[in-house]
Amino acid sequence: MAPTTDGGRTATVIGGGVGGLASGLALARHGWDVTVVERATSLDPVGAGIVVAPNAVRSLDALGVGDATRGLAALQGELGLRRPDGRWLVRGRAEGATSLFGDRTLMLHRAQLVALLAGALPAGALRLRTTATVTDPGTTSRPARVTTTDDAGTTTEADADLVVAADGIASATRTRWWPSAPAPVSGGSTAWRFVTPRVPGVVGSEIWGRGIVAGVMPLADGRVYVYVSVADAAGVPRDLGELRARLADWHDPVPALLASVDDATALRHELRHLPAPPASLATGRVALVGDAAHAMLPNLGQGGCQALEDGVVLGARVRPDDDVAGALLRWSAERRPRVARVMRMSARVAGPTLWTSPVATAARDAGMRAVGPWTAALGPRALRPVMAWRPPED
Ligand SMILES: Cc1cc2nc3c(=O)[nH]c(=O)nc-3n(C[C@H](O)[C@H](O)[C@H](O)COP(=O)(O)OP(=O)(O)OC[C@H]3O[C@@H](n4cnc5c(N)ncnc54)[C@H](O)[C@@H]3O)c2cc1C
Repeated sequence: MAPTTDGGRTATVIGGGVGGLASGLALARHGWDVTVVERATSLDPVGAGIVVAPNAVRSLDALGVGDATRGLAALQGELGLRRPDGRWLVRGRAEGATSLFGDRTLMLHRAQLVALLAGALPAGALRLRTTATVTDPGTTSRPARVTTTDDAGTTTEADADLVVAADGIASATRTRWWPSAPAPVSGGSTAWRFVTPRVPGVVGSEIWGRGIVAGVMPLADGRVYVYVSVADAAGVPRDLGELRARLADWHDPVPALLASVDDATALRHELRHLPAPPASLATGRVALVGDAAHAMLPNLGQGGCQALEDGVVLGARVRPDDDVAGALLRWSAERRPRVARVMRMSARVAGPTLWTSPVATAARDAGMRAVGPWTAALGPRALRPVMAWRPPED
């Protein structure tokens, strides 16, 4: 179905991240007159790399940009889990995901994903440099109200038949309209992310040390997406120089990748997450999606994937001719148990990455070598319902 802007029922999406863009696109494809409001001056630059798991690849198919995304992603080939000295704990091929979960896992630059989603929105649907606030969430019989302020300071108040709050982990919408929702908490580590120029000898891998995890992911254009997380318990480096020194004896090409990073482009974030989603993802005519609803630790690579799913299911379940408040409650009842489960799984996978004791990490590595990291942390077959998920049929 092609996106439409027919001046019909209006949906205002707050936030132009992956969750907001996917929601806006899904709703436009189902006949909503969509405006996506983003406070940033541009959607670029946006982060470093992103792993798009098979469940999210199918969400992108439902949004009409699946093949374009596949076309931008690296064909990864060899992939695995290593120790800092380079010894492999688990070695396989990325293509293995296809037989298990029905599609490839894609690795691409986040800016590419955001540009694809934004480019598929109806012309004029995206408003940058504008901050939006929900002033009334609305009811079945009354539309929601949203105040927007642009960078010239002009404030406008308007009704919306539907509001999607995709305003991220620090969501002001959640704080105001879900006052009893759990607030973000620390995940116990700090992450650096960057994209480096091509370096010889790169094999897609995650490397687990004592309280430090690094990821090395080749991108299709030859550049390499690198992330490093350091547990508070391991002592978080003050800066990139100290991080380089800490990983100086890790196997090649980790030190070379760190050496090639332009310090100005490296992202550094304390990893925070929500302990649980709010009791309902909907209030009145407002839907809470993506990190605003269920920010999770990144260790399963599902935060953005679940945001894509949220948007796709929203478009399928909340139609312009529906009783919006009622349809949103049903959407929430469908989505909440799933995202709560993925949040719990992400926290379980994150736990052992924070360990610093030599004895505990040796036992952890032995377990991962025997059954693989996911099974060691989650038990057998736990990933299948997450990764093999399919969007609702239109
Ligand atoms: C280190 C790290 C690695 C990750 N790796 C992966 C991965 O490989 N795969 C994956 O799927 N996920 C990954 N994630 C998670 C993923 O980044 C997030 O889940 C995803 O970006 C959430 O998207 P979002 O649109 O909900 O929120 P955000 O990306 O935070 O977007 C929110 C947007 O709302 C805007 N905004 C906020 N308030 C307002 C307002 N009042 N008015 C207008 N605009 C507003 C903000 O400017 C922002 O652009 C990772 C996260 C981290 C921290």
